[in-house]
Amino acid sequence: MPKSLTDRETALLAAIAAREDDLVRLTQDLIRIPTLNPPGLNYREICEYLAARLMPEGFELSLIRAEGAPGDSDTHPRWNLIARREGARPGDCVHFNSHHDVVEVGHGWTRDPFGAERDGDRIYGRGSCDMKGGLAASIIAAEAFIATFPDFAGAIEISATADEESGGYGGVAWLAERGWFAPERVQHVIIPEPLHKDRICLGHRGVWWAEIETHGRIAHGSMPFLGDSAIRHMGAVLAEIEDRLYPHLATKRTAMPVVPEGARASTLNINSIHGGEPEPEPGYTGLPAPCVADRCRIIIDRRFLIEEALPEVKAEVTGLLDRLAETRPGFSYAIRDLFEVQPTMADREAPVVRTTAAAIERVLDRMPDFVVSPGTYDQKHIDRIGRLKNCIAYGPGLLHLAHQPDEWVGITDMMDSARVMALVLADLLGGPADA
Ligand SMILES: [Zn+2]
Repeated sequence: MPKSLTDRETALLAAIAAREDDLVRLTQDLIRIPTLNPPGLNYREICEYLAARLMPEGFELSLIRAEGAPGDSDTHPRWNLIARREGARPGDCVHFNSHHDVVEVGHGWTRDPFGAERDGDRIYGRGSCDMKGGLAASIIAAEAFIATFPDFAGAIEISATADEESGGYGGVAWLAERGWFAPERVQHVIIPEPLHKDRICLGHRGVWWAEIETHGRIAHGSMPFLGDSAIRHMGAVLAEIEDRLYPHLATKRTAMPVVPEGARASTLNINSIHGGEPEPEPGYTGLPAPCVADRCRIIIDRRFLIEEALPEVKAEVTGLLDRLAETRPGFSYAIRDLFEVQPTMADREAPVVRTTAAAIERVLDRMPDFVVSPGTYDQKHIDRIGRLKNCIAYGPGLLHLAHQPDEWVGITDMMDSARVMALVLADLLGGPADA
């Protein structure tokens, strides 16, 4: 049975209810600042908008440019905002981290992508669901909490960070490297990504990207026997992946509650393949030249499970290539690591997990689902660089709408998430002052 609400918690939920119009306006204002990434537009504008909003609430504001981060330039500076509100007495710090960047608009919209049009219970726009709606909900939750529990313990932080959509290197990674997420400073992190109001996302699978190149020898295409085709060698690599690696990966299942179900096994995608002559320029009308390809490359995207170790994941692929090198005449290859992220998963007994689960039960009258994301998000940096495990993703919005045309966020969902976040604050920071 969920705990019944105290008088103050009842007042807190009433304070959220009274802020519905404010939540809608705030979400609309955020959507109307087109923070497109790439290239990274209006980052400063959105940080300044949020700073102006939070200043009267007593937040101390740090506007931080990730100078020298990938993508940072004077034309497109990578601005981040960290806002911290100290409580009245010592205690933990609860941090809400949202990325402020949005992905490109793409085709197929029937609404103005930056118009933030309201239609019934929905607000439409690029970034509405991923994740300006979540950012707005966390601000409303914090403001209602500060108004109802002015004597709260510890501190609340709200951050709006850059570049999550392109890896977070000009955002959370940069900040974590400089200690902003160090466990001495921040004890609980909620990332309001659109996982939906009744689900807690504990973490994500791991990632390894690599480029594999096979080598050949150029020759005239009419006498291919005088050369050695890198494309045929790559064909052998692909056959090995198809016949051996895929069946092997499908047998590896995880205890992580990854959604969707298909991502509970190890997966591998071949992102691209390039071999032989470069593609002709658009508009070029000539014929290609007859040559044997002396080089062929693929990029692989391997997603791995918490039960797997990265060296073992890599050895599966290099083992396959080494076998070909032994058995296939003329075969040689090179492999280059491009990107790697360790899997991460918060413990179900971690304080932020238990508190959020209890708050969901109290607001929605149902037990939450615990999920793990098939892809990564900024939790990777908070965990690996910041060394903070007490971190989850929890926020309003339906994940499948992210990056889609006519993206929207539900007002009821945002309100319910704000209620949950506010109760989390009450639980972690709102204990009796004279206890
Ligand atoms: Zn997102």
